[in-house]
Amino acid sequence: MARDIITLACTDCKRRNYTTTKNKKISTGRLERKKYCPHDRKHTLHRETK
Ligand SMILES: [Zn+2]
Repeated sequence: MARDIITLACTDCKRRNYTTTKNKKISTGRLERKKYCPHDRKHTLHRETK
């Protein structure tokens, strides 16, 4: 099935640090994940971006 590649961007520095996939039929809304940001050198909230 179609799983779209999405980009996760740090909400602190806006850098795009991660990519992941999601099934849009299952996941609704913006994906948010706590991830390590190499720029901030700490875990920050990363949010789905286009
Ligand atoms: Zn950051």
